[in-house]
Amino acid sequence: MSEFRRDYVKERWVILAPHRGERPLQFSEDLKYRPRGNPTSCPFCPGNEGETPPEVFSIPGEEGETGWKVRVVPNKYPIVEGQDGVHWVIIETPDHYATVGTMSREQVLLILKTYRERLLSLKGKFPFALVFKNRGPEGGASLSHPHSQLIALRMVPDAVQRELKVYEGRCPVCLLLEREGKKPNLVLASENFTVLCPSFSAFPFETWILPRKHLLSFEESSDEILEELAEVYRKTMAALDRAVDFPSYNMILRSKPFSVNSDYHWRMEIVPRLTKPAGFEWGAEVPVNIVAPERAAETMRRHLE
Ligand SMILES: [Zn+2]
Ligand SMILES: [Zn+2]
Repeated sequence: MSEFRRDYVKERWVILAPHRGERPLQFSEDLKYRPRGNPTSCPFCPGNEGETPPEVFSIPGEEGETGWKVRVVPNKYPIVEGQDGVHWVIIETPDHYATVGTMSREQVLLILKTYRERLLSLKGKFPFALVFKNRGPEGGASLSHPHSQLIALRMVPDAVQRELKVYEGRCPVCLLLEREGKKPNLVLASENFTVLCPSFSAFPFETWILPRKHLLSFEESSDEILEELAEVYRKTMAALDRAVDFPSYNMILRSKPFSVNSDYHWRMEIVPRLTKPAGFEWGAEVPVNIVAPERAAETMRRHLE
């Protein structure tokens, strides 16, 4: 039997149809992430820095070391540029074969600090910016070296403007935390963060990392909060990779647009690409999820370290 579930953050219906995934965990191999390519020909690997546009930011290696720990370069094939916006690539680590789940907490922290620094550098210059990560072929990544991206735009996208209207009432994310920040939807909780699979997940194993306090902007985060988030993010990704064997995924870091004076609640959404939206999902704009989020959360909990 199918079940209609209301997404009260994005204001839409989602259909949960678990019977369509009689083999829910037997996803096809090509939906998985496998590190590919040869580091000698990877433009993001150390030694090949000349193959990317000149860097706009980097975190250097320890004293006495050469090299870098995180690098930010303009995208060679940008979606936007000039007055329309910026498109940067954040090279997350020199290690071609690392994943967020296998990195040290310190390395994940450097990535989060880079997100914060780069977002702050755009404030006042563009109304909107989005940090995101595409991993694996189904996630839309063209290179396998661990990287994320940041796009700033000269306008606030329609979908974001629609979401902002929801905040004119009660914060939907605070409501989500109140209703689902416990079993069966809970994955893990730390002092300041809750990780859960929302009941209205549009995709199998969709997982949200939420600050429990009502905080509007990621880039205002303190060092202490980012330290805690680094561990929570690392643990979550390690559990996901164990639970569904290295899926392709998208990570979306949602934060209040710079230009608007609205309410918001920042969050990280992790969306594994284990199924492909098809004609109905595109046509009706109603996502169909074949894995019950409560089952996904339970599987994630079992795969925590
Ligand atoms: Zn590489
Ligand atoms: Zn809130």
